[in-house]
Amino acid sequence: MIRVVLLVLVIIVLSLAGAWVADHPGTLTLDWLGWRIDTTVAVALAVTLLALVALALVWRLVASVVTGPRSYMRRRAERRRQRGLKAMTQGLAAVAAGDARDARRMSARAERLLDAQPLADMLAAQSAQLAEDPTEATRRWTRMLEHEETAELGLRGLAALARRQGDGTAAVARARDALAKRPGTRWALETVFEVKLDEGDWAEAEAALTALERHKHLDREQSRRRQAALEIERARAESAAGAHDDAMNRARAAIRLAPERPEAAITQVEVAIAAGKLPNARKMIEQNWAAAAHPQLGRLYVDLLGTESNATDRAKRARDLAQIAPNLPESRLLVAETALDAGILGVARDAANKIAVADRDTRAERVAARAAEAEGDWQSAAQAWQRAADARPAPGWLCSSCGTMHRRWEAVCDHCGSFDTVAWRHPAAAAVATGRAPVSAAAGTTGHPAPSSNPASSSRPASSSRPASSSRPASSSRPASSSRPDPSSGAEAPAPTDIRPPLDAAAPTPGRPPAAA
Ligand SMILES: [Zn+2]
Repeated sequence: MIRVVLLVLVIIVLSLAGAWVADHPGTLTLDWLGWRIDTTVAVALAVTLLALVALALVWRLVASVVTGPRSYMRRRAERRRQRGLKAMTQGLAAVAAGDARDARRMSARAERLLDAQPLADMLAAQSAQLAEDPTEATRRWTRMLEHEETAELGLRGLAALARRQGDGTAAVARARDALAKRPGTRWALETVFEVKLDEGDWAEAEAALTALERHKHLDREQSRRRQAALEIERARAESAAGAHDDAMNRARAAIRLAPERPEAAITQVEVAIAAGKLPNARKMIEQNWAAAAHPQLGRLYVDLLGTESNATDRAKRARDLAQIAPNLPESRLLVAETALDAGILGVARDAANKIAVADRDTRAERVAARAAEAEGDWQSAAQAWQRAADARPAPGWLCSSCGTMHRRWEAVCDHCGSFDTVAWRHPAAAAVATGRAPVSAAAGTTGHPAPSSNPASSSRPASSSRPASSSRPASSSRPASSSRPDPSSGAEAPAPTDIRPPLDAAAPTPGRPPAAA
């Protein structure tokens, strides 16, 4: 708006000036070197103006001829750089997307167009790695070591490449180079930690773990758990090497770090037993039972006086241990199992049935079933076997990463290589559901109709009417007893008086059909 006003003003002023000059023509005479020009002032002004405009045009022409090639070159270089950067971006995107062919193509183009060698090397190395060309990748990563600013990136690339090729020693050497330049480099410490875990070098792994925590790459809780796992492995190694005192110190450290981990307590007891210190081992189990009750600890405890001791003694020792924490499911289970072996059937049944519904798994139901069988209570036995089939499976040393069940606790899962993923736990609910499926299907197709004498049973799914004996998962682990009647026939007419109240309360458990009451 302002510009328009200004323009209008300029035009008005110029027209006024033109009009004024036209009104006052005057004369101008030029007399020079024998030439003489007579003209008016207005014409002289117009000629001068035209001459100035012509001069300006000529100047611009000359300037563009002189500087033209240089600015042309500059524009060309800029276009090249833009194309190079575009290729670099596309190359990095291709690496991220895992497209090896595109990555290499873009990498070559970027290198041709760009002057930035380290950057081009980085993309080329990643593309080569993606295309599984370790020679080229090594050459590129190595060349990056020459530049101060890309040296660490080069070391990291070489370390990762070495790990992928299974050369732990080279990977650790590269990581240590990086640590020498910048202590506390996270990827380098993690590389050392992982390689040493793979090698079973627990001491070195623990040193790397401590450094990770010192440089704040791990929070205290994570570090505590991992350290406990390493201490357990170190205790085992020391114990196997006959260094019993060192082993005991390591085991104690593990318990101090993670008192809730049964594997720590078990290791300590195993170390004591290996050192021949049985009374100490017993004391340790008693000390750890409340925090880390575990069937293996219970078994060790009842066996500690030697296998020749009779079943009654074992049952008594189990009761002594259970006294420390009588309400724990593992306490009750230990009492129930040892009492069953000793033929103290009432205690066995009572202890098994006292385990709360939420804590029950197939082990408790099996003890109840075997105790009922031994007492000749076939109906209760059949119902308990049925519940054993429906209950969640017994816990084990399960890897949370790959789902492998291990014979004993390991710091590194030997199936998937994950660290600290094996723990004492029940298999996942999904696995339980799968295990149950055939039983439920069998009930739907071949279930016996409930007897009409029991009015309540017709309106509810009667668990006792299932002929699941052949399809239940637990059947193989049952003692083969020829005197035991067929559960399907024995359970056909459950008299209300036979059903024990504590087990009937089990109905709310998901997937468990309510027992007829
Ligand atoms: Zn695993």
